[in-house]
Amino acid sequence: MEPQRSPLLEVRGNVELKRPLVKAPSRLPLPGTRFKRRPDQMEDALEPEKKRTRGLDTVTKMATSHPRAPALTARPQMQGQTTAPKVPKKTGPRCSTAIATVLKNQKPGPAVPAQKPAAAAPPLLGGKKPTKRPAWDLKGQLCDLNAQLQCFRERTQTLNQENQQLQDQLQEAQQQARALGAECRTLEGELARVQAQAEQSQQELGNLRAHVLELEEQLGTQEGLVQELQKERLGLQEERRGLATRLEEQERRLQASEAALSGSQAEVASLRQEAAAQAAALVEQGERLHGLEMERRRLHNQLQELKGNIRVFCRVRPVLAGEPTPSPGFLLFPSGPGGPSDPPTRLSVSRSDDRRGTLSGAPAPTTRHDFSFDRVFPPGSGQDQVFEEIAMLVQSALDGYPVCIFAYGQTGSGKTFTMEGGPGGDPQVEGLIPRALRHLFSVAQELGGQGWTYSFVASYVEIYNETVRDLLATGTRKGQGGECEIRRAGPGSEELTVTNARYVPVSCEKEVEALLHVARQNRAVARTSQNERSSRSHSVFQLQISGEHAGRGLQCGAPLSLVDLAGSERLDPGLALGPGERERLRETQAINSSLSTLGLVIMALSNKESHVPYRNSKLTYLLQNSLGGSAKMLMFVNISPLEENVSESLNSLRFASKVQLPPSPGPVRTPG
Ligand code: ADP
Ligand code: MG
Repeated sequence: MEPQRSPLLEVRGNVELKRPLVKAPSRLPLPGTRFKRRPDQMEDALEPEKKRTRGLDTVTKMATSHPRAPALTARPQMQGQTTAPKVPKKTGPRCSTAIATVLKNQKPGPAVPAQKPAAAAPPLLGGKKPTKRPAWDLKGQLCDLNAQLQCFRERTQTLNQENQQLQDQLQEAQQQARALGAECRTLEGELARVQAQAEQSQQELGNLRAHVLELEEQLGTQEGLVQELQKERLGLQEERRGLATRLEEQERRLQASEAALSGSQAEVASLRQEAAAQAAALVEQGERLHGLEMERRRLHNQLQELKGNIRVFCRVRPVLAGEPTPSPGFLLFPSGPGGPSDPPTRLSVSRSDDRRGTLSGAPAPTTRHDFSFDRVFPPGSGQDQVFEEIAMLVQSALDGYPVCIFAYGQTGSGKTFTMEGGPGGDPQVEGLIPRALRHLFSVAQELGGQGWTYSFVASYVEIYNETVRDLLATGTRKGQGGECEIRRAGPGSEELTVTNARYVPVSCEKEVEALLHVARQNRAVARTSQNERSSRSHSVFQLQISGEHAGRGLQCGAPLSLVDLAGSERLDPGLALGPGERERLRETQAINSSLSTLGLVIMALSNKESHVPYRNSKLTYLLQNSLGGSAKMLMFVNISPLEENVSESLNSLRFASKVQLPPSPGPVRTPG
């Protein structure tokens, strides 16, 4: 089967076939393109007319050489013409485009060249070359010419018909051209659209390429990441293996521990039982301990009572630097019945009677005054030794018994030294107040283990000329003290309180030290050049102790009073009574009055008299709850070691001996 060829190629093929026939240059657009004629047709006969009819012939040939064009195929076959080889009838843009191209290539010009007169051409008859007539045969010649004319007329008619057909074809071709033009525009539009699409696609392609690049980049990153993750995975796998090993190890240990635990649990159970038993024993022991504690308190109190609810200690201060040394034997401290190992309880004061010696001319005779007390502290006795003796008494305060300790003696005999301590804050010379409080705090802490809780509230006042002043006053009241009054804490209450005085809760030594410091400052402000007021007033340090055993609902409370009394010296009767002395006399009288009231109160208490004259002085009134009943009282009688003070020393010793009743067992006292 012959492959379908494009119409243009077909035309060209025809041209090539006909090329040898073209001998002269043609004005037709496609030279040599004309109908193929059989040799027996009029081609040869019409040889001279070839040139004239070539253009039309060409056109006709062109038209017929494109059998695909519908217009041409529809054309009726011309007489005497060979039909073009039959090709399958085909319509469509391809065929019409080819025809249009052929038509377009035609040069403008007359489709049929002007017909030349066929002057020399012999008439064509039956396709045979006419034989030349002799000149004389005019009739024959005319006949030939007529025949020739007839032939030409037919020919003209044929050509006209052809022309008409060609014009029809031309119109058709033009219509087709228009249709093709429209089609072309459509196609151009389509082309533009396709181009736009192509551009868009190009752009999209560019975008996609960029995207691809990006994705490739991401892929690279991801691949790197994957590699890293793989590395990490390997590391983790390694770690996992290590952990698995450790886990196994731990599990082994856990099993061992569980075994040990079950053993321990059994042990714990037995220990719990033991603990429960011990707790029960502890409770029992606690009960016993409490019983013992209560027994201790009872016995302790009994012991203190046996020692005497009113006790007197005598303390002789050492001779100070610059003071005259007393004559040997002026003060003697005879040993007790147990020999020198016994703590001294006796004191002998030798006093020479200068008057008698002068009168007789002989050496002045001496009189020995012997005194016996619960305890005597010779000059060398330290503060610690003194405190040791009163520690048991302080313990009684914690047990709920009121305790009152006085320091009695002339000015300069060592009362303040004994109560508060020496100067400079040296712990060695700390007095009874700081030591007693330290002792209380520590014992209270120990008793805390048995369920006791203690609290302490301190106050410190001064009684001067029967007026009460707060030694703990601070701020604007400092040194002034304001007016303080002793009042009952409430209606029907036994407890006494000093109005306007500070009551400060204390729980440690430092707080006590601070209070003593404030008191010293207040005394210093009140000091005058004429008169050392602290010597002329009673300083009363009181500590209210409150104890509670919450578990047993027990409570105990008692005041501990530590009193530094005013100097007990008498006013020299030989002194001229100037205005200062008169004031001094009033002070002295007030002091003597309050001291003698104290003596009377103590004696009334020791004689268990029904009336105790507490109200006769501010001092005894303030201290009434610390004296009497189950209260323990201790009086230090402080003595100067100097011979020049012998008179006042003897007075003090006599006063102390009077309050020490009933007479203590032991050696017979010889009051001076
Ligand atoms: P008072 O208070 O009785 O007036 P002080 O306590 O002020 O007497 O004592 C007078 C002086 O004697 C002070 O300088 C004091 O330091 C000193 N003194 C008192 N007793 C002793 C003692 N036991 N040891 C050393 N010095 C003492
Ligand atoms: Mg003093």
